[in-house]
Amino acid sequence: MSERLQSIQECGDCVEPADAFGLVANETRLSILEALWTAEASPVRFTDLRQAVGMRDSAQFNYHLDKLTDQFVRKLDDGYELRHAGEKVVQAVLAGSFTEHPTLAPIDVGDPCVQCGAELEAVYDDERLSIQCPDCGYGHGEYAFPPGGLTDRDDDEILAAFDQRVRHLHCLAKDGVCPECSGRMVTTVERADECCLGSSLTATHRCSQCNHQLCSAVGLALLDDSEVVGFHREHGVSLSERPYWTLSWCVSDDAIELASEEPQRFEVAIDCEDETLTVTLDGELSVVETARSG
Ligand SMILES: [Zn+2]
Ligand SMILES: [Zn+2]
Repeated sequence: MSERLQSIQECGDCVEPADAFGLVANETRLSILEALWTAEASPVRFTDLRQAVGMRDSAQFNYHLDKLTDQFVRKLDDGYELRHAGEKVVQAVLAGSFTEHPTLAPIDVGDPCVQCGAELEAVYDDERLSIQCPDCGYGHGEYAFPPGGLTDRDDDEILAAFDQRVRHLHCLAKDGVCPECSGRMVTTVERADECCLGSSLTATHRCSQCNHQLCSAVGLALLDDSEVVGFHREHGVSLSERPYWTLSWCVSDDAIELASEEPQRFEVAIDCEDETLTVTLDGELSVVETARSG
């Protein structure tokens, strides 16, 4: 355990996670947090807050508000405002993670499997969305997608949002920031049998604080690289408009070669029309050099 984590856990004023959940596991308290979150101005005066929650009994209302104060709500001279922990609770409730477990019929993605060419399917299960091939079973990525992401979106919009989410999560992870807790993420490239993809040579990002993990094909790290973006633009392809699963170098290790063990170097060969861009990456997925041929 890191020293800092230890000092957080030994903090006398801090609330244990189980106690924190206990504090907000109450309809009235959740209503108070939501009322503060949706209030037009902050801080909110006591009587306005009580009216927004719709509770007549002032003493009972005060009791619940008092339970939230300091940890989730800050009391100021002229009213109350949400603290960051309170915001996180409201966001989690809005995202649906605590209450909903929606099911969704598989979505026809309309793009071909990079291995066999069959039409891909998006399957939603246990709040994770995966893009997979119903014929050969090849995985094109599987990632957490909170139920709130399904609200007010049709199938195409769900797929587009998932594509954006995967790109952003990986962008953060590659830069060493955990998308769950902002802790330090460490990237390794290794052969893995069990992972989110059909490919075996994968990049894995692990958080040293909360243990959150993300995995991808090595090439996914190149989606926002300026040379790779420019190379595609010259060939009439806008990478920001192409779902990542339609690009074989983002979901498969076919185009990737281990060029050197020590130091670790990988070559990703990206074909576009009659030209090939070869990108050399180090073990942390930083671009070392690029070369064109064709
Ligand atoms: Zn397939
Ligand atoms: Zn983390």
